[in-house]
Amino acid sequence: MRQIYIQITVLMLVCLLFSLNETEVKSLAAEDSGAHNWQEYSTHVETVDVGTHEYTFWRNFIEHTGTCNISYKLKSVVYYCDVHDHTDAKIFHEETIHSEEHK
Ligand SMILES: [Zn+2]
Ligand SMILES: [Zn+2]
Repeated sequence: MRQIYIQITVLMLVCLLFSLNETEVKSLAAEDSGAHNWQEYSTHVETVDVGTHEYTFWRNFIEHTGTCNISYKLKSVVYYCDVHDHTDAKIFHEETIHSEEHK
């Protein structure tokens, strides 16, 4: 039983190495056939909550503590290169948003 398990693992590794080699060959071939022509294919903006932090403010001469939610506005862009018919994606951090107004 153990022997079979090891054989399967080796087989998976071989498959993995083979597929890696294949992509390497493909990307090398792409490099040879000229420069990329990356063009924006689609963009997607989303807001992701990243956590909270506390801040202090004064009201009626008393110091208060408030909680503020922080979120990141992220833009993901998919690029398409028609020279080699492949895609690439990048994520941009557009801005950090604080739910509360504070200094
Ligand atoms: Zn390309
Ligand atoms: Zn804040």
